[in-house]
Amino acid sequence: MIISNARVLTFDSSHRVIDSGVVEVLPDGSIGYVGRVEGTTQVQHHPGGQGRHPSISEEKSHERIDAHGKLLMPALINCHTHLYSTLARGMLLPGRAPKNFPEILKKLWWRLDRGLNSDDVYYSALVGAIDSAKNGVGTLVDHHSSPSACAGSLDRIEQAFREVGLRGVLCYETSDRNGNASTTEGLNENIRFLERLRNEPGDGLIAGCFGLHASFTLSDRTLRRAVGANQSLRAGFHVHVAEDCCDVLDARRRGRKSPIARLHDLGILDDKSLAAHCVHVNASDISALARHGINVVHNPQSNCNNAVGMAHLVEMFRAGVRVGLGSDGYSPRIWEEFKAAFHVQKLRAGDPRTGYAEAYAAALLNNRTIAEKIWGWRIGRIETGARADLILVDYYPPTPLGAENLFGHFLFGIANAPVDSLIVNGRFVLRHKECVNVDEREVAAKAAARASSLWKRF
Ligand SMILES: [Zn+2]
Repeated sequence: MIISNARVLTFDSSHRVIDSGVVEVLPDGSIGYVGRVEGTTQVQHHPGGQGRHPSISEEKSHERIDAHGKLLMPALINCHTHLYSTLARGMLLPGRAPKNFPEILKKLWWRLDRGLNSDDVYYSALVGAIDSAKNGVGTLVDHHSSPSACAGSLDRIEQAFREVGLRGVLCYETSDRNGNASTTEGLNENIRFLERLRNEPGDGLIAGCFGLHASFTLSDRTLRRAVGANQSLRAGFHVHVAEDCCDVLDARRRGRKSPIARLHDLGILDDKSLAAHCVHVNASDISALARHGINVVHNPQSNCNNAVGMAHLVEMFRAGVRVGLGSDGYSPRIWEEFKAAFHVQKLRAGDPRTGYAEAYAAALLNNRTIAEKIWGWRIGRIETGARADLILVDYYPPTPLGAENLFGHFLFGIANAPVDSLIVNGRFVLRHKECVNVDEREVAAKAAARASSLWKRF
């Protein structure tokens, strides 16, 4: 496939912006040529240096896409979400509204997840994957819970990802909150899925983590069982950390300094793990996050929605912590999280100069670093040899645009512009705003019927 006549934001080492750019997508789903105009000499060498890539003008058999001046950039990455929450949209909670984070969990999410059956899990994931695709997100890192339909649930989510065409990282949220049998089921679902991925790697579009809920719903015994089971799997743990102050108070009750200290001491947090939130952290925690290379995922809109507090994003960056960006299931639109990330930091600091660099780095640089470092995916850049995860955006800049002023264009323009097309691993997922692999309206109708039934059981 050859995409021509695009304004290309490469996100390569010099963040080149190429006007009237041409990008070649090779049959193996990687990026070949990246340059300015067909037939020119601006052909990059393949890594490994086995000669020049053939001029694209010689590749007559390629499908040719005229981008008509649209913006072409790497597909977005969402480093923490919960697709199982999809069918809660619009649901009215019975009784008094939850007044704090523990009540939100008990009255909403821990009741909803227990109500999900295997088909609900599948349709939740389908709808969530479609919504993400339409918002330019090509990779989702999901954290799943369905205690009444635990065994095999990750396969149903994988099925949905494959049908839509997204790249994904899946895990099951192990927790002690539903009793011993449920804990074992959660551990076993992670083990089963990770073993299957190890034995049948396939096309590499689906990867796994070892999922854990949070320090405050997990005993030392369960955490040790998870570490033991993971010895041979060598997956990273994906866990909520210090999202609310209740997690910190619980860790102290257990005689630990903090959730981060507890989870690190027990072998959960390391440089392959994802620690979602890290809102309630002190200087010692931040230092530990940096020292051990733990990957933090910031979810600002969810934090605002649950009124749990504001993460120390600027302090974490200053200390050298790698912080990526996720949605926590709050929105499929990672651009909204990008905006919220720096709005919240400005408010927190009371300083309009702060937060820009951190929000930009979290969304566009650190998410791709996390994806490459943990799952080996070279995405988030348009350069020869990277995977062809791309979006075409209806954005025609009304002011000069270059590598030096991308942030302003993201904030005030690109983040508000419609996503026209999404390509993942060289294949169209969304084309001219329509999902090419699934019928969105049919999926929505079936999901609505499932939601209606789920709500009655709630
Ligand atoms: Zn979460």
